[in-house]
Amino acid sequence: MAFCPKCKAEMSATEIVCPSCGFDFPTATTDSPPGKSGIAHSPLADIALMISTFAGSIACLIAIGFSLISLSTGQFFNGLVLGPIAFFLQLGMVVVFLRVQED
Ligand SMILES: [Zn+2]
Repeated sequence: MAFCPKCKAEMSATEIVCPSCGFDFPTATTDSPPGKSGIAHSPLADIALMISTFAGSIACLIAIGFSLISLSTGQFFNGLVLGPIAFFLQLGMVVVFLRVQED
Protein backbone atom coordinates (compact mmCIF):
# COMPACT_ATOMS: atom_id res chain seq x y z
CA MET A 1 0.00 0.00 0.00
CA ALA A 2 1.27 3.46 -0.92
CA PHE A 3 0.13 6.93 0.02
CA CYS A 4 -0.28 9.94 -2.21
CA PRO A 5 2.43 12.52 -1.37
CA LYS A 6 -0.03 15.35 -2.07
CA CYS A 7 -3.30 14.40 -0.33
CA LYS A 8 -2.05 11.43 1.74
CA ALA A 9 -4.86 9.22 0.42
CA GLU A 10 -4.25 5.48 0.24
CA MET A 11 -3.59 4.20 -3.25
CA SER A 12 -2.29 1.12 -4.97
CA ALA A 13 1.46 1.00 -5.48
CA THR A 14 0.88 0.22 -9.14
CA GLU A 15 -1.20 3.33 -9.81
CA ILE A 16 0.64 6.22 -11.39
CA VAL A 17 -2.13 8.80 -10.83
CA CYS A 18 -3.72 9.38 -7.43
CA PRO A 19 -7.42 8.30 -7.57
CA SER A 20 -8.29 10.83 -4.90
CA CYS A 21 -6.71 14.08 -6.06
CA GLY A 22 -5.36 13.18 -9.48
CA PHE A 23 -1.75 13.80 -8.52
CA ASP A 24 0.37 12.62 -11.43
CA PHE A 25 3.56 10.96 -10.27
CA PRO A 26 6.68 11.89 -12.19
CA THR A 27 8.03 9.01 -14.23
CA ALA A 28 10.50 7.02 -12.20
CA THR A 29 14.06 7.56 -13.38
CA THR A 30 15.82 5.45 -10.76
CA ASP A 31 15.78 2.37 -12.99
CA SER A 32 17.73 3.98 -15.82
CA PRO A 33 20.43 1.70 -17.21
CA PRO A 34 23.90 2.28 -15.79
CA GLY A 35 26.20 4.36 -17.92
CA LYS A 36 28.94 2.66 -19.85
CA SER A 37 32.00 3.29 -17.75
CA GLY A 38 34.75 1.39 -16.03
CA ILE A 39 37.50 -0.88 -17.27
CA ALA A 40 35.20 -2.95 -19.50
CA HIS A 41 34.40 0.13 -21.63
CA SER A 42 37.79 1.81 -21.58
CA PRO A 43 39.78 2.39 -24.79
CA LEU A 44 42.26 -0.26 -23.64
CA ALA A 45 39.43 -2.79 -23.40
CA ASP A 46 38.32 -1.89 -26.94
CA ILE A 47 41.83 -2.51 -28.25
CA ALA A 48 42.04 -5.78 -26.30
CA LEU A 49 38.73 -6.84 -27.81
CA MET A 50 39.93 -6.13 -31.36
CA ILE A 51 43.18 -8.02 -30.77
CA SER A 52 41.27 -10.89 -29.17
CA THR A 53 38.98 -11.10 -32.20
CA PHE A 54 41.99 -11.21 -34.49
CA ALA A 55 43.80 -13.75 -32.28
CA GLY A 56 40.68 -15.91 -32.09
CA SER A 57 40.41 -15.93 -35.88
CA ILE A 58 44.05 -17.02 -36.18
CA ALA A 59 43.49 -19.69 -33.53
CA CYS A 60 40.54 -21.03 -35.56
CA LEU A 61 42.83 -21.51 -38.56
CA ILE A 62 45.50 -23.09 -36.35
CA ALA A 63 42.91 -25.52 -34.97
CA ILE A 64 41.91 -26.52 -38.51
CA GLY A 65 45.57 -26.99 -39.44
CA PHE A 66 46.12 -28.99 -36.25
CA SER A 67 43.22 -31.28 -37.17
CA LEU A 68 44.44 -31.81 -40.75
CA ILE A 69 48.02 -32.50 -39.67
CA SER A 70 46.84 -34.88 -36.95
CA LEU A 71 44.64 -36.78 -39.40
CA SER A 72 47.45 -37.02 -41.95
CA THR A 73 49.73 -38.51 -39.30
CA GLY A 74 47.12 -40.96 -38.02
CA GLN A 75 46.36 -39.14 -34.76
CA PHE A 76 42.61 -39.48 -35.11
CA PHE A 77 41.77 -38.47 -31.54
CA ASN A 78 43.57 -35.18 -32.00
CA GLY A 79 42.20 -34.69 -35.50
CA LEU A 80 38.57 -35.62 -34.84
CA VAL A 81 38.12 -34.55 -31.21
CA LEU A 82 40.67 -32.08 -29.89
CA GLY A 83 41.03 -30.10 -33.11
CA PRO A 84 37.28 -29.57 -33.65
CA ILE A 85 36.79 -28.71 -29.96
CA ALA A 86 39.54 -26.10 -30.15
CA PHE A 87 38.08 -24.80 -33.42
CA PHE A 88 34.55 -24.33 -32.10
CA LEU A 89 35.83 -22.88 -28.82
CA GLN A 90 37.77 -20.22 -30.69
CA LEU A 91 34.98 -19.66 -33.21
CA GLY A 92 32.47 -19.13 -30.40
CA MET A 93 34.74 -16.60 -28.75
CA VAL A 94 35.17 -14.71 -32.02
CA VAL A 95 31.37 -14.65 -32.48
CA VAL A 96 30.92 -13.28 -28.94
CA PHE A 97 33.62 -10.67 -29.52
CA LEU A 98 32.01 -9.55 -32.78
CA ARG A 99 28.53 -9.37 -31.22
CA VAL A 100 29.61 -7.19 -28.30
CA GLN A 101 31.34 -4.83 -30.72
CA GLU A 102 28.05 -4.31 -32.56
CA ASP A 103 26.65 -2.33 -29.62
ZN1 LIG B 1 -3.71 12.37 -3.94
